[in-house]
Amino acid sequence: MMVDHGGLEEHVERLRSLSFEIGTYRPPSEGASDSLLLRVSENCPWNRCTFCEMYKGHRFGYRPVEEVTADIDRVAAIRDEITVTSKKLGMGGEITRDLASALLAAGRDLTGNPSFVTVFNWLAAGSRTAFLQDADSMSMRPREFIVVLKHLRQTLSSLTRVTTYARSKTLYKRKPEELRMIREAGLDRLHIGLETGDDEVLSLVHKGVTSAEQIEGGRKAVAAGFQVSMYWMPDLGGRERWRQHAENTARVLSAIDPHYIRSRPLVPRPGTPLYDEVAEERLHLSSPHERLEELALMIGGLEVSSKVCFDHAMNAWSDRRGALLFRQDYEGYQFPEEKPLLLERIREGLAVDEAMHVHALRLMAVQSL
Ligand code: SF4
Repeated sequence: MMVDHGGLEEHVERLRSLSFEIGTYRPPSEGASDSLLLRVSENCPWNRCTFCEMYKGHRFGYRPVEEVTADIDRVAAIRDEITVTSKKLGMGGEITRDLASALLAAGRDLTGNPSFVTVFNWLAAGSRTAFLQDADSMSMRPREFIVVLKHLRQTLSSLTRVTTYARSKTLYKRKPEELRMIREAGLDRLHIGLETGDDEVLSLVHKGVTSAEQIEGGRKAVAAGFQVSMYWMPDLGGRERWRQHAENTARVLSAIDPHYIRSRPLVPRPGTPLYDEVAEERLHLSSPHERLEELALMIGGLEVSSKVCFDHAMNAWSDRRGALLFRQDYEGYQFPEEKPLLLERIREGLAVDEAMHVHALRLMAVQSL
């Protein structure tokens, strides 16, 4: 399609003048749906977990409601400007590759403008999902969070799913009626880093929560009507505590029965206390087969109706044919129906030479760079 790029300067100029805060992190499933990323707080209010490098060196910032609602208004203004441009070019408001080419021809610098790029991609994907950043949106005062959510839903009415990260400890502290009101204001899904259900490992990694609090917080979130997505970290206990890590993680997850359980195997990150523990041989990482044995124990102990997912490159064990041992999609294995299948896959992985797992992991690590 031939597009006349003339007369777009005023729109490009306006798009340049509009920006809103976007954080760095979001779950992979939110990237896949091109979710709108919007920061309701900055960094992590806890920031002490020994394995986590995400917000180290950055102070937590509580964003005032007016700032966040003004950001939502700026998202709407960018959306409207892009839509008007599409209509002006005879594209009927559709968000297409040709529209992107026309805008970038008039303002090449827009490619480096995260606000424009985020809103454009979000519109092109149907503008249905949003992810509220950063690490613990539930730490916002409930009354203020509700104002933000209502404003978001009213202003960006195409949204059908709004999700965020939340800490178990914060959920544990919230009253059930507060959680219900937040849910009713338009927050649909919580992504929660459980990591382990073992109290000793929780304490060693400074997670700041006990397994009893995790269970109570998780159950309250489910009862309030949230879709709950929980992440656990295979090998967080190392060779020293793999058995108690697996057994207690299964115990806690079974008590909560979240909608999603997602595997995020431990990767020691330079600059974290846990990295030093491994380097100084105070914590010993498991081999690929040992990690599978841990998985067998944890998965075998799960009594849930959740979807168990391996949607991350670090879950790259290999099967007999050299293909990925586990499906890596975002919907995973439906329990309890697919539990026998998953246990069978783990048995197959244990029968494969360990060198094949190491090769598969290296390959996926390179591909995900
Ligand atoms: S609560 Fe989450 S984001 Fe904060 S330090 Fe722990 S793992 Fe990192």
